[in-house]
Amino acid sequence: MKYSPKQMKDQLEAKEFGFKKKFGQNFIVDENIINSIITKANITKDSMVIEIGPGAGSLTYKLATNAKQVLCYEIDTKLQNVLEENLKEFENVDIIYQDFLKADVKKDLANYQFETLYVVANLPYYITTPIIVKLIEDEISVDKIVVMVQKEVGDRFKAQPGSKDYGSLSVYLNYFFEISKLMDVSRNIFIPKPNVDSIVVELKRKESTYHLDNAQLFFQLVRDSFKQKRKTLRNNLKQYDLSLIEEVLNKYHYDLSVRAEQLSIEIFVAIANQLSKKK
Ligand code: SAM
Repeated sequence: MKYSPKQMKDQLEAKEFGFKKKFGQNFIVDENIINSIITKANITKDSMVIEIGPGAGSLTYKLATNAKQVLCYEIDTKLQNVLEENLKEFENVDIIYQDFLKADVKKDLANYQFETLYVVANLPYYITTPIIVKLIEDEISVDKIVVMVQKEVGDRFKAQPGSKDYGSLSVYLNYFFEISKLMDVSRNIFIPKPNVDSIVVELKRKESTYHLDNAQLFFQLVRDSFKQKRKTLRNNLKQYDLSLIEEVLNKYHYDLSVRAEQLSIEIFVAIANQLSKKK
């Protein structure tokens, strides 16, 4: 694998590959950054890693060197011959050419045996949130997610109730994961160069403080509560038993005129558990 910008450009040109903005294609051309991701993520020889969007394979190469097995999803079939060339020395990399958002990840994972599961990726920015939401809602038991994301999006992950960035993603993430920033990444280490800076964040699965009776009901409730951010719960949750919801809200000194952005994870869990009891 050649990591210099010139070598990668030459290879992509030789293979007649053109970058596609619509797929969020900004490839890393700095070996030091990749090495730091691998070290900080603590990838070990017994880990199974899912990578979403291998691109030309620069991160994949180091993942394959350090992990037991790597499973990649790449939407752009035009990258197939580039990836085949760059990863030809590995037998522990499988690439599925498919839109990750449509993949049946649980089924794909059933083909492998592993102890710990990581997701490591330089995510396509246009679908960062849907990718993370999918990993959570599909109940893929990922131990750790290490992803490069747009700086503003990463900052939103830890948003607290009452702040303008607080949304369903913050509720999900903070329920399931310990979130920490691993490093800042300059826009200069990509080709083509994006208009924004990035950060690498780590999401480490935690035992949540609050017990959930029915995860799918919780996901649906949180999604519906934030459906129209400026609306009250009374308006967003019309299809639910509002009197049960009000009972819980009253315990926390709120009523149905509250907006989702004001409610803590604890309250969402309490509402979901109350609704699941009466189902
Ligand atoms: N991992 C490479 C790197 O760091 O150099 C490429 C990262 S680039 C930011 C994002 C990659 O995700 C591209 O290869 C792009 O084609 C791929 N991609 C975009 N949308 C996708 C989707 N829905 N499913 C799978 N891969 C996707």
